[in-house]
Amino acid sequence: MIRHASKQKIVYIGIFLIIAVLISIVGCFTYLEIKNVAIASLGESAEKVAITAAGFIEADIDSYQVLAQTGDYASGNYDQNYYQKMNELFQNIQAETGVSYIYTTKKLSDTEAVYILDGEDPKSKFFSPIGSVDELEEAGRNVYSTGIAESTNLAASEKWGTYLTGYAPIKDLQTGEVISVVGVDFSSDSITKLMAKIELVLVFAVLSLIVLTSFIVFKLIGDKFRAENVDYLTELHSKRYHNYQLSGLIAKASNSAAPLFLMMIDIDFFKEINDEYGHDVGDQVLRHIAYIIKTSARKTDVCSRFGGDEFVMILSDVNAEQVGGIAKRIMEKLRRSSLILEDCVLEGTEVTLSIGIAQWKNEMRSQNLTQYADEALYLSKQKGRNQITFYKTFGKMA
Ligand code: GH3
Ligand code: MG
Repeated sequence: MIRHASKQKIVYIGIFLIIAVLISIVGCFTYLEIKNVAIASLGESAEKVAITAAGFIEADIDSYQVLAQTGDYASGNYDQNYYQKMNELFQNIQAETGVSYIYTTKKLSDTEAVYILDGEDPKSKFFSPIGSVDELEEAGRNVYSTGIAESTNLAASEKWGTYLTGYAPIKDLQTGEVISVVGVDFSSDSITKLMAKIELVLVFAVLSLIVLTSFIVFKLIGDKFRAENVDYLTELHSKRYHNYQLSGLIAKASNSAAPLFLMMIDIDFFKEINDEYGHDVGDQVLRHIAYIIKTSARKTDVCSRFGGDEFVMILSDVNAEQVGGIAKRIMEKLRRSSLILEDCVLEGTEVTLSIGIAQWKNEMRSQNLTQYADEALYLSKQKGRNQITFYKTFGKMA
């Protein structure tokens, strides 16, 4: 039995690990997918803020054109009022939308652009004064050629940190020409915070799924195991389970020389009980006797229904006297019991048992033990039933 239980435990642990690994892999893919969706959605938000800001500028495009065409920024020879007003507008947008940076740039070359407007406080180290040069990213470059808003993926920069940018074109509404772009940066902090919440939910979901799936799988395996190893009518072990245990216990007894007995129990004239009371009562009698066998046995005895009205017990680490005692106890308990039926009571004295017992000897072949116990049972029947016979002894014990 120990062999069976530990093998089953290993199978259960293996199945649990497989379930855990598979669900965790699915969880990781889901996490990455959610992260991509979150990044794409943040990119869209950045584009929307950039498009809104571009709309404000396009409403007074002439002033912006003049500012953007100023070559000599250092001299301060440009419309300072407009510049300050727009920078303040950008600061407000920044405060209200939670974007990290908002600015406009004008393309210098394929790789460089100059800042025009910036939503940073002029005293901040992140403020980009008008005319200061920075790199022109691919997405920004695309906006000049397509005239359509676009966003980048998350990218790390030494100066600005990890962020993504949404770009929107600022167009001269008369010519349709893109004269500048608005850039809106969202820091990765927004993603990190969102993902931290999602991680928590996902870890909880993955763990719940592992527990639930394992529970369902174990339940299915348990049901299958039960169906194969438990007799559905009497709830004793099945013949299949008995055979499995018997070969294991025979091997153990052969190695240790510990005593091992097999007891076959058959109901006398059971057919008549069926005929007289009906099959349902017959079933109740089978269950009743199974209960008596189970409650007369020791914890280590393996009690099974061998088939029909025949039961079998494997008893290890006992002597013949103890086995005989258990057999007598079963008969005595049955005699003193009564089975309450729908309209009458079936007294235990009306049902008797024939029992055959054989002891394992190392010189036997494994199938001999069952065969000899069966022969002893046959002899009990022959001698008039309601008795216990030991193989070879063939003496009447009860
Ligand atoms: P014997 O003393 O020689 O054993 O006589 P018996 O009438 O018990 O003969 P036998 O063992 O050959 O008959 C067993 C009967 O058990 C036959 C069958 O109808 C009945 N039986 C087998 N399985 C079941 C079952 O699950 N439920 C019921 N009610 N009867 C069963
Ligand atoms: Mg019988």
